[in-house]
Amino acid sequence: MTRVTDSPVDVVLSVDVEFSLNSALAQPEQPPLGAEWVYGEAGGRAEGLGFMLDCFDRHGLKGTFFTEVFNTYFFGDGPMRRVAADILARGHDLQLHLHPVWRGFLNPRWQSEPMPPPPGADSLVGRPPAEIAALLREGAAILERLSGQRPTAFRCGNLDAGAALYQGMAEAGLVLASNVGVGLLRPAEPQLQLYAGLHLIGDVLEVPVTTYRMPLFRNRLLLLTTAGSSTAEIRAVLTRAARQGVGPVVVLMHPHDFRLALSQAPSGPPRYAADRVRQRRLEQLCGHLATQPRQYRVTTFAEAATRWRSAAASQRAEPPLCGSIAGLAQRLLENKLRPALLGLPQ
Ligand SMILES: [Zn+2]
Repeated sequence: MTRVTDSPVDVVLSVDVEFSLNSALAQPEQPPLGAEWVYGEAGGRAEGLGFMLDCFDRHGLKGTFFTEVFNTYFFGDGPMRRVAADILARGHDLQLHLHPVWRGFLNPRWQSEPMPPPPGADSLVGRPPAEIAALLREGAAILERLSGQRPTAFRCGNLDAGAALYQGMAEAGLVLASNVGVGLLRPAEPQLQLYAGLHLIGDVLEVPVTTYRMPLFRNRLLLLTTAGSSTAEIRAVLTRAARQGVGPVVVLMHPHDFRLALSQAPSGPPRYAADRVRQRRLEQLCGHLATQPRQYRVTTFAEAATRWRSAAASQRAEPPLCGSIAGLAQRLLENKLRPALLGLPQ
């Protein structure tokens, strides 16, 4: 099973950039949260997106930012155009992310007749391929309008993937995907239950968010994220991926992961503070990757697309990589014990 390879394993720092619906379709008096949610300003510093972009720059790394654009049906183009410009100004890869639930704001009666979004409103699964293709074309056109660039890769909201999604993607001409994350949500179709690597689904190349397994509870699967995975867990997964030649490793994060939302005064604006634990994780991850170029090649979907497509045919599905006991202990300490002791949101 273990094979030692000479070439570095690809690693993608993937970011889902999105605003918060804040349950506004059910409770219109509680409006969605836009740019402030992503930037997370605290004491004059942007502890969300600003921290991420500075951290990537400090280590000379580029990420792929899957950017949600159906929010424009509430916010207009301004807020996400500013976010996209900030991402592109630092030389990152801008791609498409969609949460169809935002299309609820196309209903002119959303305020006078509020209702919770029906089941499936935020999913592409369960829709026919032609409808999915139309939504993808609509989203791609909005992102191009905001950024001047046409996306070549797509990640669906909530990592909620199904076979029809790939037919819709092919129909819309978007043939590079990162829709799957079994550690968060296991797709119904066995051929989509993928943990890492490169996989051709028809014409579409799927590069899943990496799922790994706990060392003690072998059936517990986890998604590789800087919000949930401790530094020791991330390093264990990376080390095993490099040793076994299993890649690309795709790490998932959001700008809003790196700031805490403090409790909001009833009529005041939301307040934020830096999430020092998660910020340290990203700093340590970037430092680890940047200083070991013989083991890791940090790349983006745009940069690697051609190379990945030619490598995909020779790849086969692998079992999930394993975390570590030290990583699990650090995870429990940082994610459960520390917030409980300090009274922080978990
Ligand atoms: Zn999302």
